[in-house]
Amino acid sequence: MKQTVAEKITAVGEMKRSHYSMIINGERVESVSGNMFETYDPAKGEVIATIAKATIEDAEKAVQAARNSFDNGKWRKYPVGKRARVLNKIAAIMRSRFNELCELEVLNSGKSIGAAQVQINQAIEDFEFYAGAIVGHRGKVNNMPNGFFNYTHKEPVGVCAQIIPWNYPMMMAAWKIAPAIAAGCSVVVKPASLTPITAIILNEICHEAGVPEGVVNTVPGAGQVVGDYLVTHKDVNKVAFTGSTPTGRDIMEKASSTLKRLTLELGGKSPSIVFEDADMEAAVAGSLFGIFFNTGQSCEARSRLFVHEAIYDEFMEQFVSRTKKLKLGDPFDKGTHLGSIISRSQLEKIDAYVQSAIADGATVLTGGKEIKIEGFENGYWYEPTIIADVTPDMKVVQEEIFGPVVVVEKFTDEREVIKRANDTEYGLGSAVWTTNQARATRVAHQIQAGIVMINSPFSAFPGTPFGGYKQSGFGRELTVETLDLYMEDKSVLSYYGPKPINPFGV
Ligand code: NAD
Repeated sequence: MKQTVAEKITAVGEMKRSHYSMIINGERVESVSGNMFETYDPAKGEVIATIAKATIEDAEKAVQAARNSFDNGKWRKYPVGKRARVLNKIAAIMRSRFNELCELEVLNSGKSIGAAQVQINQAIEDFEFYAGAIVGHRGKVNNMPNGFFNYTHKEPVGVCAQIIPWNYPMMMAAWKIAPAIAAGCSVVVKPASLTPITAIILNEICHEAGVPEGVVNTVPGAGQVVGDYLVTHKDVNKVAFTGSTPTGRDIMEKASSTLKRLTLELGGKSPSIVFEDADMEAAVAGSLFGIFFNTGQSCEARSRLFVHEAIYDEFMEQFVSRTKKLKLGDPFDKGTHLGSIISRSQLEKIDAYVQSAIADGATVLTGGKEIKIEGFENGYWYEPTIIADVTPDMKVVQEEIFGPVVVVEKFTDEREVIKRANDTEYGLGSAVWTTNQARATRVAHQIQAGIVMINSPFSAFPGTPFGGYKQSGFGRELTVETLDLYMEDKSVLSYYGPKPINPFGV
């Protein structure tokens, strides 16, 4: 099972394997320690493959490969159109192997095939988007007094450590790798230990498409060992992290010792406000998707629902009855709405939140417990859950659960609901459901969140900025400006006047 001979990646070959190596300097390699870890299909609770487990020595090799490719390699010196062609080729290979990628993503994450398709498709579009965006992404000429000329020269920031979570394994890898390599950086990717497979495959695809060795490296391993090492490494210029707020705080502190550039995409507890004039059908359907897509394991999941008192009973009747119709089951079945939870410990965490809400006096309107799915008895499954009669101080209202659990509250007026919606340490997503455009804009401008969805179940497309306020982090991904987070603006100032300047006059 173990691959002992490192091989250069010129073609990805069979994607579904019983063992996955890490990728360093364009080669599939094993850990210097020989260590491996098992990765699971959480829908079945079964081991599906082993993964080479990076140690600090492996991480060091990856950083040096990235450093060498950046300092001495050709990638950042390519004409920008050539880099764009390679990004488009990455997208083309992904598209040609779309079904295999979706299958791997479902197998390693337990998500429904529908969710995987949406996410892999977006991962592909990210590469296409940045292939286009980088071509027009130039410095500018600045107006200067007579005799002086100034322009900004955009240069890649250097070696980037990119640390990603388990909820959207390939899409998060694409959000990180695509803008970084478009900008000319070299990267070391640290995938989440629960879902490393598709990030490894994406790295292999990058090489098949023509990304030179060392520009993209992937080192699966423990966050507190490998992640920590990357974050404090003097040869790493930037850290791009997506994950939980506590880990983000830790990383920010550690990255400060070497003053690294930093982007943090962190947790959320996003509010969704349904006004009395909302289109009921759109608001119910959008609220279902808003919380239960990806089995609630989304950073921008709309997990706090505020419904106006005038429509509360009608809305809730529909919301609860349609939640009961959501289908959990075989993730590969196209009719499945919710896949499994990622792990036993995540399921226990979700259930502990629900139990704490019950103990605090809240009411579970539907769901609220683990379920067994026929054929998937050893997997991790939790019912879509709606909780009412909550108070603002409850843990279930304040803390990110990261599962299929929504709390619902009644409100009476606009000012009050804005205040309540903002009463959270997080500020990632938010949604407003109303047919009154003026109100929608008014509320959108007062919500303290990086993203506001007006009458939309969807939060992002390539080209729209994605990122948080407050404890949800800083920096925006998925947009043209993301390229600037991987670049330095060098100011080049020159004098072209006829006479030499002698400021001291001596
Ligand atoms: P996590 O913080 O536990 O782990 C994220 C990554 O960081 C993993 O690769 C992990 O191995 C690594 N890591 C852990 N400790 C580390 C350390 N000390 N130093 C360096 N790296 C370390 O998060 P998770 O449970 O994998 O993911 C869920 C979280 O991610 C949720 O809070 C969710 O909201 C957030 N998330 C945010 C966004 C966004 O765009 N804002 C998107 C997806 C997920």
